[in-house]
Amino acid sequence: MKTGECMALVACYECKKEISSEAPSCPHCGAKKPSNVKTYLLGTVGVIIAWAIYAVSSTDTSSPEAREKMNAQAAIEKCWETQRRESLDAGQKQFLAGVCEGMESKYTAKYGTNP
Ligand SMILES: [Zn+2]
Repeated sequence: MKTGECMALVACYECKKEISSEAPSCPHCGAKKPSNVKTYLLGTVGVIIAWAIYAVSSTDTSSPEAREKMNAQAAIEKCWETQRRESLDAGQKQFLAGVCEGMESKYTAKYGTNP
């Protein structure tokens, strides 16, 4: 085994033993490393959402309440957008519809108007 400087050692998330960062799975317990692609995608989605919230909240700086109202509207819109996704099954769609309707009724109760 060569001792290249590029071979960093990381702790296995399962058995906590040191394994090479290059190894696709742990030689001690066989645990596969969590997919980097998934982490990358989650990070990207997080950045997009943070950016969207920032963009929405920076368009109206008249009052904190107006901003909050716009954020609530944007959140409800995003909720329905997610709910309409083709990849969801009927159960998930039904669950999300309930969540979105809950958000809408909270909005109506708070601001006295429909979103
Ligand atoms: Zn391990």
